[in-house]
Amino acid sequence: MSRVKIFDTTLRDGEQSPGVSLLPEEKLNIARLLEKLNVDVIEAGFPIASPGDFEAVRLIANEIKDVEVTGLARANKKDIDRAWDALRNGTNPRIHVFIATSPIHMKYKLQKSAGEVHKQAVEAVKYAANYTKNIEFSAEDASRSEPEFLYRLFEEVIDAGARVINIPDTVGYAVPHEFGNLIKGIKENVSNIDRAEISVHCHNDLGLAVANSLEALENGASQVEVAVNGIGERAGNTALEEIIMALYTRKDYFDFEVVQDTTCIARLSKMVTNLTGMLIQSNKAIVGDNAFAHEAGIHQDGVIKERTTYEIMDARTIGLKENKLVLGKHSGRHALRDFIAELNYDLSEENFEKIFVKFKKLADKKKKLQPIEIEALINSQLKKKNNIYELKYLSVNTGIDLLPTATLKLEKDNKVLEKAACSGDGPIDAIFQTINEITGLDIKLQSYRINAITEGRDALGEVYVKSSIDGKIYLGNSAQTDITEASARAYLETVNKHMYYKGER
Ligand SMILES: [Zn+2]
Repeated sequence: MSRVKIFDTTLRDGEQSPGVSLLPEEKLNIARLLEKLNVDVIEAGFPIASPGDFEAVRLIANEIKDVEVTGLARANKKDIDRAWDALRNGTNPRIHVFIATSPIHMKYKLQKSAGEVHKQAVEAVKYAANYTKNIEFSAEDASRSEPEFLYRLFEEVIDAGARVINIPDTVGYAVPHEFGNLIKGIKENVSNIDRAEISVHCHNDLGLAVANSLEALENGASQVEVAVNGIGERAGNTALEEIIMALYTRKDYFDFEVVQDTTCIARLSKMVTNLTGMLIQSNKAIVGDNAFAHEAGIHQDGVIKERTTYEIMDARTIGLKENKLVLGKHSGRHALRDFIAELNYDLSEENFEKIFVKFKKLADKKKKLQPIEIEALINSQLKKKNNIYELKYLSVNTGIDLLPTATLKLEKDNKVLEKAACSGDGPIDAIFQTINEITGLDIKLQSYRINAITEGRDALGEVYVKSSIDGKIYLGNSAQTDITEASARAYLETVNKHMYYKGER
């Protein structure tokens, strides 16, 4: 049985989702869980794009030992040098070089002839080969490129040293049968294709990313590029969890060995949702809240009698199981440390100590803490690193026939800034108004969502905020027992992201 290589681009293409910006340490935590799940390649960023991207690629390349780590580079020396600088001390580095090959991209975007693009691609791969033998070459917008042009180009880049040839459906235009034929054509018409692997990178603009990827695998591709929860540019990328579970559940049909640890999937999905602030729809395949829920009586009855009547997958396979682990006020450092390791977070000693102090405070109030509550503590600690404004005090006054008023104290550069503001649109809006006034920023709220994530009266409320600042979109989220505090923190996170990345991207 052959095996499919899983190339994860959550941290590069996924991070290009509108509003998503991950800190290097947040990316490292996701990378560690991807390593545990046993992906083959992690694309950690686009080193030349920003100092943050460079740092994330460097950090992940140095820390992750069992998985290949790659960084993206356009087909020029400067990009390749920068990518290699980030990757060079890693255990398994790969350089990923790309150039657009479709007539429309070459003419309008690159303003180059096909001959010039061909030459530039081959030269770039030759240049990268001075650094490493592990080179992936991508023909951007391949699905809208001339097949004959691709065949000749691939032959030469393979000769120049490319080990992986990636065929992206960059704009999500392909349909399965046609995309499969493109792969088949490459397999049959590129004379030296036996020296390279064929990879595919599909986008989901028509909802066909997973279908196109599977069709490609059946026609000779052996690597699929995916992102957790299917995040990525526009409608996103091929979803990691859907590809792995399709291959796993339909082993009878696909003749591929699945070596990934599927039980990491639920955790990974949750971690990516938490750290990116990108919520997924309830009916999302595999990882949506309703993916294993049965509503119709006939279905429920069937599942109780025999699970497989209406379930093709067991929730436990993706790691969804009753979590028996509960921490309480008597739990000490050791228990908390084990608990955090179980959640697959890796923290510095300093961060751990800070979380421990907050944990003790919360456990005094709540007696028993669920994993999700511990995770909320971890996330707010990880995010602290880029906090330019810190929430120090919050008070809200509201009621029927009262004009809601919020008073906030925010700390910036060791100075406490205090203001109060009111709003006819409710207490949450009053909080946001106050933050706008203190920061002096023109922040526009785009969306606001709140979910109860644990049960009972002392449930945690998780707030997701999307805001636009200076025309850029930012996502923020926070989980607290007090929803006014969660709202303030989520909104403030978008402000902090804006301040942190200002000038960078
Ligand atoms: Zn892409």
